Parts: sequence; structure tokens; C-alpha cells
Amino acid sequence: MSIVQFKNVTKEFGSIKVLTNVDLEIHKGEVVVLIGPSGSGKSTLLRCINSLERINGGDLIVDGISVHDGKNKVRLIRQEAGMVFQQFNLFPQLTALQNVACGPRWVRRLQRREAEELARDLLKKVGLLERADHYPAELSGGQQQRVAIARALAVRPKIMLFDEPTSALDPELRHEVLRVMQSLAEEGMTMVVVTHEIGFARKVGTRLIFMEGGKISVDGDPKVLLDNPENPRLKDFLQHVH
Ligand code: ADP
Ligand code: MG
Repeated sequence: MSIVQFKNVTKEFGSIKVLTNVDLEIHKGEVVVLIGPSGSGKSTLLRCINSLERINGGDLIVDGISVHDGKNKVRLIRQEAGMVFQQFNLFPQLTALQNVACGPRWVRRLQRREAEELARDLLKKVGLLERADHYPAELSGGQQQRVAIARALAVRPKIMLFDEPTSALDPELRHEVLRVMQSLAEEGMTMVVVTHEIGFARKVGTRLIFMEGGKISVDGDPKVLLDNPENPRLKDFLQHVH
């Protein structure tokens, strides 16, 4: 079953083409790791999936809804696609619990008590139940990112999008975030992950995509591609991120 389908998608910023004729189908349960040089369009591709960016050409269908289906439907797409950013983006004036509970309250219209119960379950899942009443400034970067993952999960998305989720973290804090992501993948969550963590791509990814200049240039099995990158530019890229 396909959850995301790019059909000949083009995205431009002014006169700059950032995505050019992208065709991509992502199926339920896939863990797609997206790599590529800076400026190749990785973030833009993710942001198109949850309609943070509008496409200029082609069609993009997320969980059966086309981005051309109108405003109300596009709101549904945002609920189906949870996003985790490099910079956590938590609400600083809300506790961890409130950060996680606000989505279910506003988007799913749950009562406060139900939303907080769900938020506690999710904080437990990311190993932070005991930090429920802490504010973001009182948490480490790794803990903040785990709260951000719990917050994205709270609206029960069908797909999770991660944009360099560990890039802002000190190396010793990265593994705790990667572990949470791995357990999500093992539960069958469909994921698209932009990352330089090649170990994660190998261990957890079911598919590796290499982007260059707004196009998908390599798409295949992570282990095969990482062990034997035939594409010379992929090979060169991997030598620089290792
Ligand atoms: P990546 O995530 O692979 O580094 P991006 O998707 O962020 O790449 O950016 C791809 C290209 O689009 C870059 O050239 C970038 O400068 C440009 N770009 C991204 N966002 C905007 C924007 N909001 N306005 C203008 N240009 C943008
Ligand atoms: Mg980016």
C-alpha cells in the first residue's frame, strides 16, 4: 500500500528549480533514509509531503489525499504526517507534558485529561515520563528531541518525517534519539529520515535514496548501496560523511 506518491513533482522558489520531475512512491512500513549534498532538496521534499511547501507541478498524494484537493483536505495531510526538525521546535513556555498534549487537544479535540494521559504514555515510550513537568530549557538536547518525537506521535500520524533530527546534538546524545527512532521503525512506522547517520541507514533503513540537484539519483537497498556504491558521486559523498 502506498502512503506517499510523488508524480512528476516540480518545486520552484522563484526562478530556482529545487525539485525537478520527482517520481517517488513510499509504501507502508518503509524506512526511507534520504541523503545528499547540502542544497540538493532533501528538506524541501520532506516539507512538500506534509504541505509545509506547495508544489508547482505534478501531483503529490499522501494517504490517498492529493495536495491539490483543497485546504480542508490539506489539513488532514498535516495530521497524517508528523514532522521532527533539527532544532526541536518545542514551545518553551510549555512543559514536556503540555508540549505533547497540545496536539491531541487542538487537532484531535480530546479532553484535557485524555490528552494528558496519551501524552504520559508517549513520554514513557520515549523514556521521559519522569521529566513530564520539566520545561524545554531544563532538558538536554537529546531529551528535547525525544519530547519532539512524542509530540509528533501524539496526533497519531501514519508517517513520520525526520529532518536531520540528530544534527544539532552533541555526539554522545545522538544515540538516545536514534534508539527511539529505531524502536518506532521496529513497530512498523513508515518513516522518511534525512540524516548523515550512515549507521542508522544501514541498520534501520529499508531503502536509501541519494538526491542531487533536486533529483533522485540513486534509490535502493541501504546495505547494497553502502557496501558497493557504484554511482561515483554517491561513493564520493559517502567518503565525506563517514
Ligand atoms: P537540503 O535540505 O538538501 O540542504 P533544501 O531543500 O533545504 O536542501 O534546499 C534546496 C534548495 O532550495 C537550496 O538551493 C535552497 O537555497 C533553496 N531553498 C530552500 N528553501 C527556500 C526558500 N524558502 N526560499 C528560497 N529558496 C529556498
Ligand atoms: Mg535540509
